[in-house]
Amino acid sequence: MKTIGLLGGMSWESTLNYYKAINQGIKQALGGLHSSKLCLYSVDFDEIEKLQNLGQWDQTVKILSQAAQSVEAGGADFLLICTNTMHKVADEIQSGISIPIVHIADATAKQLQADGIKRVGLLGTQFTMEQPFYKQRLIDNFGVDVIVPNAEDQSIVHQVIYSELCLGKIEEKSRNQYLRIIDKLHQEGAEAVILGCTEIALLVEQRHTTISLYDTTEIHAAEAVRMVLSE
Ligand code: GLU
Repeated sequence: MKTIGLLGGMSWESTLNYYKAINQGIKQALGGLHSSKLCLYSVDFDEIEKLQNLGQWDQTVKILSQAAQSVEAGGADFLLICTNTMHKVADEIQSGISIPIVHIADATAKQLQADGIKRVGLLGTQFTMEQPFYKQRLIDNFGVDVIVPNAEDQSIVHQVIYSELCLGKIEEKSRNQYLRIIDKLHQEGAEAVILGCTEIALLVEQRHTTISLYDTTEIHAAEAVRMVLSE
């Protein structure tokens, strides 16, 4: 069985869900006592978050590259970076290791394409919603049109991620705000909405709305399980 590499801790609240989803996927496919061979390096998110805010992405590359190298040395066959935001530096991390990174946006886009979705709303951190590293990849490589909330709503989505979800706080009023924003994206033409931050599914689940949600944590974990099973 191939060994899955995880670069986690960003935040650990969502890494837990990766661990669970991967093991559930393997158990479902192979049955009995089967579980995933997995190598996880979990960073201190406080360090990463401070560097993000300072715009010191090159410093995050140093931390994450070292962590990725440890995962490779631990025997992983491929690597999942368990956060959408830090895919901003995925190419730099990739250049320091020889195992492939399974890109979270590619896994999500493949699912969107399979479902025939042409226009999608994107929720995530301000970095993910504002900057081109994620959106542009979906547009250029997969032909999916991406729309994001307005500046005020982006700020709400971002704040809830760092001040609540990454701390394990689930607030009803924040869920209502998210559902309002998801609804607005739908009215603006989004056929579905990407939960483009690995913590969002802790707050908003498919049962809360009729609009199709694409949970990047679940999709990314499922892609890893598929890769293990397809060997
Ligand atoms: N887990 C989040 C994401 O998927 C945000 C935390 C981070 O900044 O890495 O983007």
